Amino acid sequence: MSPTREQLEQWDRDHLWHPFTPMQVYAAEKPVIIERAHGCFLVDLDGNEYIDGVSSLWCNVHGHRVPELDDAVRAQLERVAHTTLLGLANVPAIQLARRLVELAPPGLTRVFYSDDGATAVEVALKMAFQFWRQCPEPKPGKTKFLALKSAYHGDTLGDVSVGDVARFHHLFAPLLFPTLRAPNHYCYRCPLGLERSRCRIDCVEELARLVRDHADELAAVVVEPLVQGAAGMITAPAGYLRRVRDVTQEHDVLLIADEVAVGCGRTGTLFACSQEGVSPDFLCLAKGLTGGYLPLAATLTTERVYAAFLGRPEEGRTFYHGHTYTGNPLGAAVALANLDLLTRPGFLAALSEKIERLAQQLERIATLPHVGEVRQRGLMAGIELVADRATKQPFPPERRMGAQVCRAAREQGVMLRPLGDVVVVMPPLAIDISLLERLGEVLYNCLARLPGV
Ligand SMILES: *Cc1c(COP(=O)(O)O)cnc(C)c1O
Repeated sequence: MSPTREQLEQWDRDHLWHPFTPMQVYAAEKPVIIERAHGCFLVDLDGNEYIDGVSSLWCNVHGHRVPELDDAVRAQLERVAHTTLLGLANVPAIQLARRLVELAPPGLTRVFYSDDGATAVEVALKMAFQFWRQCPEPKPGKTKFLALKSAYHGDTLGDVSVGDVARFHHLFAPLLFPTLRAPNHYCYRCPLGLERSRCRIDCVEELARLVRDHADELAAVVVEPLVQGAAGMITAPAGYLRRVRDVTQEHDVLLIADEVAVGCGRTGTLFACSQEGVSPDFLCLAKGLTGGYLPLAATLTTERVYAAFLGRPEEGRTFYHGHTYTGNPLGAAVALANLDLLTRPGFLAALSEKIERLAQQLERIATLPHVGEVRQRGLMAGIELVADRATKQPFPPERRMGAQVCRAAREQGVMLRPLGDVVVVMPPLAIDISLLERLGEVLYNCLARLPGV
């Protein structure tokens, strides 16, 4: 017999530990338990429907229960659910690698699979480190990484070392390796105190200086192309990424592009790097790779990097890293179907109309009294709330203003999740215009009547 709603609520409280969730607050409230979904809607146990406003944490692409994706999983299930990729291949993992190489920026010809965004970046960090010990003219002194202020690259300790979201990361400082830190492109609160109208992307020159001065010890620079997601949807000025690529190339430092959030169509192109004509040394993909269906990640790299790992086994050049479910056939099969849908003629063109419509909604929201700034790239946006627009004074964190806005939106049928006081808007790319308008209307209303203001 299936459990009752009351039992499920009780067992959730008694046994589940939710990620990134203050559990004392969570346990004191009535939980929302999702039972099913269709299209861009999530449905809870009581039959309430919610627009999936953050794409089930930034990963859903074509909505839920998509016939083509469901069929891809089913068809693969008829063959095999999982076999290992350690010294053994499987059909969809090969096909997906081939497809990714065809679609990725030029030069990325090798695909290493793992399961999550965190592992995709962790793999790139370890490969970059090992590369410098084994490349034709080894430079074993190149052991460090450079990352941006407020960067987020996942939650394993390597990723946390290059990450810099104080709220998540500072506690773990004693466990981390040191990372060089460049200012981020947070134009609303410019780290250099400059005005946007006179911006010549001076912050990237600070990064360039660090790369130049530390090239001897730098294995790689790690960036989130175009948008720093978890930092609060912080968008980069045009030309920023290009400049990072140029300076890394000039000083022979590898570039790791963490496209875990921005890849797979999210910013309006299949890959964010393409918007600035950039081919990185590592391209990390996860979240949207399977359309939000199954955990699968890929780290793409170049022949130059790959070649440094070749040799007789006893030379010890092998990349000794892997995960049990690496290259899972179900994940690879659904990723292939997802890429087929993403590259269908007209799909990305239709996306630009939605992006434009979201921009119009955000423009209206930007006029509200406690909205400091709205930021958007593609169907990826953040609304930064402030207590005072003139001084940009934030709300006291204990008011949890972002969380309160999301709670109000939930009561009106829109499921959101904030980043501090930045309200994230990131619907599935498949959302239709009328639903996008409904989402915008609910958001406007919630933001116009901030709780307790
Ligand atoms: C979400 C995210 C990650 C981590 O991905 P997981 O699948 O949650 O491990 C890494 N980098 C960026 C930019 C992300 O947004």
